[in-house]
Amino acid sequence: MITKDIQVNCSIVERFNSLDSSGRLAHAYLFVGPAYIGKTETALSIAKMFCCEEKPTAGQLFCGQCSSCKKADSSCHPDINFINSDFGEQIKIEQIRELLAQVRLRPFMAKKKIFIIKNVENITLEGSNALLKTLEEPVGDSLLILTTSVPEKNLDTIRSRCQIVRFLSETKQDLAEHIRTHYKEDEITSQYFAYFAEGCFGKARLLQEKKWFEKKNEIIDGFLFKGWNDDSIKKVLEDKEQVKEVLDVLLSCIRDCMLIKHGIGQNSLINVDRKEDLKGFADRFSFDELVAINGEIIKTCKLLSENLNLKIPISVIKEML
Ligand SMILES: [Zn+2]
Repeated sequence: MITKDIQVNCSIVERFNSLDSSGRLAHAYLFVGPAYIGKTETALSIAKMFCCEEKPTAGQLFCGQCSSCKKADSSCHPDINFINSDFGEQIKIEQIRELLAQVRLRPFMAKKKIFIIKNVENITLEGSNALLKTLEEPVGDSLLILTTSVPEKNLDTIRSRCQIVRFLSETKQDLAEHIRTHYKEDEITSQYFAYFAEGCFGKARLLQEKKWFEKKNEIIDGFLFKGWNDDSIKKVLEDKEQVKEVLDVLLSCIRDCMLIKHGIGQNSLINVDRKEDLKGFADRFSFDELVAINGEIIKTCKLLSENLNLKIPISVIKEML
């Protein structure tokens, strides 16, 4: 183990160590992979590896205890520069100019200066043009790590000047096992989080933090069984994120109902904890009706992604249930 953070991709950190030892480290990398898969955490571990002052013991790439490691942990290491942009938040040219001014300086304490730009797809056109020259021509002891979950949104010119490092999602079985081990969740909850987290441990952690297992059952009860009234639906419609949550939960339920109709065993169900309820629900519909409901939900998801008004589509789904 080189780190306690489960989100760090240790084999990638080790690969950077080998590349550096053999003098083959490039100066700019683009980390590509789904959101919450651990790209930033891995980049920060690589930064720590280059900044650690101690000679770590066997099996470690940084000690985690020296003043450099501690500075890195508290985001105040002078040789680690981090532009943190959340989804949809623009990275402005001023931020890039500030970073470029730092790139030209020699490291203060570490053997390299590390620059991490999170969600680089949020960079403005001006900003990316300013960055291109630095990506093209290595400057001193600098290492640039850019991250993105939507590589197609990045300019070809940026992509082509970086070495691409891909982060792959874990299988549902592996992720469920991690959730069981690290979060001490039971079998059913772990399986459920693994399905919704799409192979990303960070997303599973978020789901756990927002008590998603309880919340999804409220949605199932409200929409499928107790019948939310118009006011409840109106409240859901006020928040795009909530609408998405409701649609995701409904999709998972209808999928389960279709599997139940086909007589497929409970191991394949997402909502295993609601198996009996969903069996009763599925009995009320023919398979074709379930397919039609599924189609309507998918259509509504598409409208949501296009920011269209969902009042009528949601009412249509409610009527069908
Ligand atoms: Zn250290």
